[in-house]
Amino acid sequence: MALIVQKYGGSSVADAESIKRVAKRIVDTRRAGHDVVVAVSAMGDTTDELLDLANEVAPIPAPRELDMLLSSGERISMALLAMAIHSMGFEARSFTGSQAGMITDSQHGAARIVDVTPVRLREALDEGAIVIVAGFQGFNRDTRDITTLGRGGSDTTAVALAAALDADVCEIYSDVDGIFTADPRVIPKAQKLDHIGSEEMLELAANGAKVLYIRAVEYARRHGVLIHARSTFSSSEGTYVLGEGMKNPREAEGAAAMEEPIVAGVATDFGQAKITVAGVPDVPGKAAEIFKIVARSGANVDMIVQNVSATGRTDISFTVPKADSAAALKALAGEQTEVGFQNLVHDDQIGKLSVVGAGMRTHSGVSAVLFEALSAGGINIEMISTSEIRISVVLRDTDLAEAAHTVHTAYGLDGDAEATVHAGTGR
Ligand code: ASP
Ligand code: MG
Repeated sequence: MALIVQKYGGSSVADAESIKRVAKRIVDTRRAGHDVVVAVSAMGDTTDELLDLANEVAPIPAPRELDMLLSSGERISMALLAMAIHSMGFEARSFTGSQAGMITDSQHGAARIVDVTPVRLREALDEGAIVIVAGFQGFNRDTRDITTLGRGGSDTTAVALAAALDADVCEIYSDVDGIFTADPRVIPKAQKLDHIGSEEMLELAANGAKVLYIRAVEYARRHGVLIHARSTFSSSEGTYVLGEGMKNPREAEGAAAMEEPIVAGVATDFGQAKITVAGVPDVPGKAAEIFKIVARSGANVDMIVQNVSATGRTDISFTVPKADSAAALKALAGEQTEVGFQNLVHDDQIGKLSVVGAGMRTHSGVSAVLFEALSAGGINIEMISTSEIRISVVLRDTDLAEAAHTVHTAYGLDGDAEATVHAGTGR
């Protein structure tokens, strides 16, 4: 008997029918003899609808009240799910985040989990009940208020519960089959991975892959939680996300050890914009000034390049999420004279392509394959950045899909068959 934590995303519990399907899946796990703890998201697009509603009554909703409102979405799905399980003849008990002991800091809308005290969950499990927990929400001890963990936070709830309860596995169910070598909607020949290292998963998630949330993967990595990302809409196995030193459960079951590929996957990101600060005086301290201004605007800088200067002035270009670019531009424009740059150029027609693989540490020539593939495709590169296990390039957005195809093929990642896509969003 194992303790299994399961997380169901909004698309898995979008209506009564889906809730019943999920209930059946939970009951099947219970029937197989396991203890089950479930973290559930709000039904379908509930969170977005609640957000819209809040914005209709107030231009800037009070953060505390917004969390009261948004946390209600998960309360609906958790109670309905418990009811559906009851009607199948099984005991289930639902808990809010605070009842479950999900203790966070006081940052409304982006709270961090600081402690998990699942006393009531353990009691319920000991009494033989299936436990259902509202995802995405917590409680702050100082303010005694309800908090939420940020969009997509139910993944983090599930992983934190798995860590606190020392679960055998944390199964994250969504409407996609697992982690793929690329987004199957961009590259139909993408293949589902058997497993992936959590470090690689973090790089993919940070660079556009949307199946798992970064914070959940980070939490799992820190606390040694085994994640199994799989689909609610099929019974096929998904992808294991393995932390450091973790063994692939399939190999433990006797499957032959697989050779690790050099490149795990290719990620595409259409969500970045490029800002160029042109004609910056080429003297020490200017980059510091510029990026202090950008940081104060709240924009999250990704890639940076600086041109060589011929004339005592230089151009500094960087990328930020599209949603942050207006604030960054405004902040920079406000300090143009102080910094002494000549002008600002904004470009939101870019796309980022990233190749990720832990094998890059030990193999040479990995970047050459990327650059050759792009050059053969006649695709121009505008920016390059690398980490130990990732190479990213910024391209024209209109080139991104073709570039991703070419590069996916060049690294030998193409599968024989087309991947099944259930028109899913991964949530
Ligand atoms: N319902 C929340 C959201 O849509 C949390 C989640 O789905 O994980 O962001
Ligand atoms: Mg949701």
